[in-house]
Amino acid sequence: MKMLIQGQFSDAEGAATFSVKNPATGEVIDSVPKGTREDAKRAIDAATEAFKVWSERPSIERSRVLIKIADAVRAEADELGRSLTLEQGKPLGEAKSEINSFANTCEYYAGLIGRERGAHTPFSTGEGFFIVTKRPLGVVGAILPWNFPVSLMGWKVAPGLAAGNTFVVKPASTTPITDVKVASLMVKAGLPPGAVNVVTGPGGVVGEELLDNPKVSKIAFTGETATGRRIMEGSAKYIKRLTLELGGSDPMIVCDDADLALAVEGAAWGRFRNCGQSCTSVKRLFLFESIAEGFIRAFAEKVKTIRIGDGRDKETHMGPVHTEVQREKVESMVQDAQNRGAKDIVKGGRPADAAFERGNFYSPTVLGEVDYDATIAREECFGPALPIFIVKDLEEAIQRANDTPYGLGSSVWTKDVERAYHAAERIQAGTTWVNSPPISRAEVPFGGFKQSGFGRELGIEGLDHYYETKSIQVLEYGKGKKWAFPIN
Ligand code: NDP
Repeated sequence: MKMLIQGQFSDAEGAATFSVKNPATGEVIDSVPKGTREDAKRAIDAATEAFKVWSERPSIERSRVLIKIADAVRAEADELGRSLTLEQGKPLGEAKSEINSFANTCEYYAGLIGRERGAHTPFSTGEGFFIVTKRPLGVVGAILPWNFPVSLMGWKVAPGLAAGNTFVVKPASTTPITDVKVASLMVKAGLPPGAVNVVTGPGGVVGEELLDNPKVSKIAFTGETATGRRIMEGSAKYIKRLTLELGGSDPMIVCDDADLALAVEGAAWGRFRNCGQSCTSVKRLFLFESIAEGFIRAFAEKVKTIRIGDGRDKETHMGPVHTEVQREKVESMVQDAQNRGAKDIVKGGRPADAAFERGNFYSPTVLGEVDYDATIAREECFGPALPIFIVKDLEEAIQRANDTPYGLGSSVWTKDVERAYHAAERIQAGTTWVNSPPISRAEVPFGGFKQSGFGRELGIEGLDHYYETKSIQVLEYGKGKKWAFPIN
C-alpha cells in the first residue's frame, strides 16, 4: 500500500518503507511508505491548492460529495472491515461497524452544512448592525491513533470538509492501510484531489512537519495525553487551532437501584469492546456495597464467556491487544495492582494455550480490592483489565470518580432520575452516559474535561471547531458619528 498525495498513490521520497503487522499473528501484512518531511510538505502544498477550490464550492455541492463518500464507503464496508481487522486486530463485526460509523458521520455533516443560521444584530447605539459569519480555517493536520483509525478520521475530515477545509492525515504507524483505502475512495467519490491526503510515516517526522509548517492552520489530534502536550508545544509557534482528544480513565458507577443485568452487560461491553482500547472504555468500576457481591458474581460469569481469538474468526468476541508494547503496559498495571494486594475476580492475563502464542493476546482480567494508589486506578489502562471498587454511596462514588487528572467519559446506572442527574452534573467529564455503555453518536458533541483534552468533535459543536468566526460591522450611511482626531 502506498500513501495518497494529490489523489495519487505515492512512494516516500527515497522509497523507504516500513512493515505493518497483524496483531493476531505477528505476520507482516503489507509495507507502507516511510514518509519524510518532504513528503508531508508535498501533501500540505497539495491541500493548500485544493483549499482554493474546495472552500469556494457551494455548501450544497460539498454536502453532495460527502453523501457520495458515505455511499462509496458503505458499499465497500465488508472489504474495508476485513482490512481494518487485519491491521488493528478487532473482530470483523466491530470493524464493519466502525466503517459504517465513518459513513454515518459523513452523512450527518452533509445534512448539517448549509442549514446553519446566523443573526443580524443591531448595535446598541443604533448606528448600524453586525453579522457574524464563518470561514473555513484552511489546511488541517489530522493526527490519528490506532484504536479507531477509520471512525476517528471521520470525526475530523467529515466536519472539516463540510466546512470547506482540506486535510493532511497522519495515520498511526501501526494502522495506516485502511485509512489510505478510505481516502482514495473519497477522491473517487468526487472530492478534489488534494483535499484529503494521507501521509504514512513516523509521528516524530510527518507529525512534526504538520506542527512546524505555517501552511497548516489547525491540528486535530486523538491519542495519548503526553503526545497531546507535545502537539500543544509544537503548535505554539504559529498559534495553530487545536482539538485534542486525549486519554481517559472513565468511571462507571452502579447504584443499588440499578438494573443489574443491564449494568453487567454494559460493563462487559464498555470494558472489553475493542479489547478495552477505547478512550471511553470503562476503566474504573464503582459498585454500591449492597449490590457488590451479586454484581461481581454475575459479571465474573459474563466475563468468563468472552472468547478471545483472531478477529477474522466469526466465533471471536475479543481480538488481541494491538501491540506487544500495549500488552506489556496492561500486564504491568495488573501486576502492580496485585503487588499492592488486589485479588483476582477473573484471572486473565496471557493465555496459556499455544494457539495464541504468536499474537498479542491478553484474556479479560477483573480485579477486586484494588488500592486507590495502584497505577491501574490512577492512569489510563488501555486494555482488557478492569479494577472494581466498592463505595458506600453516590457521594463517595462521585468523589472517587473525580479523583483523576482525566475527564473524558463516565456512566451512572440507576433507575432514579434525580440521582442520575445529580451524578451527571457533578462528574467532571465531557460525557456522562445514563444506563448506557459508552456509545458515541454523530449528533452528540464529544470531548474531554481536564487533561483529557479540549475542543469538541461531532455534533454542531464539532463543525464550529473547523471555522473561524468573523464579525462584519456595518454602519448605516449617515448615522455614524463624525470622526475627528484627536479624540476629545
Ligand atoms: P500516541 O499519542 O503516541 O500516537 C497517536 C498519534 O500521534 C500517532 O499517529 C503517532 O504517530 C502520532 N505522534 C506521535 N508522536 C508525535 C509527534 N511528536 N508529533 C506529532 N504526532 C505524533 O499514542 P500511541 O499510539 O503511542 O499509544 C500510546 C497510549 O496512548 C496508549 O497506551 C493509550 O493509553 C493512549 N491512547 C489513547 C487513545 C485515545 O483515544 N484516547 C488512542 C490511542 C492511544 P506514530 O504512530 O507514527 O507514532
